[in-house]
Amino acid sequence: MLKEIKKQYLKILGFKYEIKIVEPNEMNEGLDGICDDTNLTILIKRNKIMVSTLIHEIIEALNTNFDWSLEHDVVIQIETGLRQVLMDNKLLNLQRVNEVLGKK
Ligand SMILES: [Zn+2]
Repeated sequence: MLKEIKKQYLKILGFKYEIKIVEPNEMNEGLDGICDDTNLTILIKRNKIMVSTLIHEIIEALNTNFDWSLEHDVVIQIETGLRQVLMDNKLLNLQRVNEVLGKK
């Protein structure tokens, strides 16, 4: 019997975004993730940088909801900086992150 995959959600500013993991062949080559604010869905491509992608798409959701109009390279810089601080100081709950990313 197939193990049922539990749907994963992230609450962002009170909105409940569903996290969907997609296979590499299901998403354009240049993309690692998509934040769909209309359907409250975050798509994450299955690859080695899923944690970065998750952080990136959270920033994209904030960018849209707060109307920041951040340039994409700024979004990438925030993603890189935030991920480094969280990782270097062990502030990320990796067990929970893996659960959200469907690795548990
Ligand atoms: Zn982006």
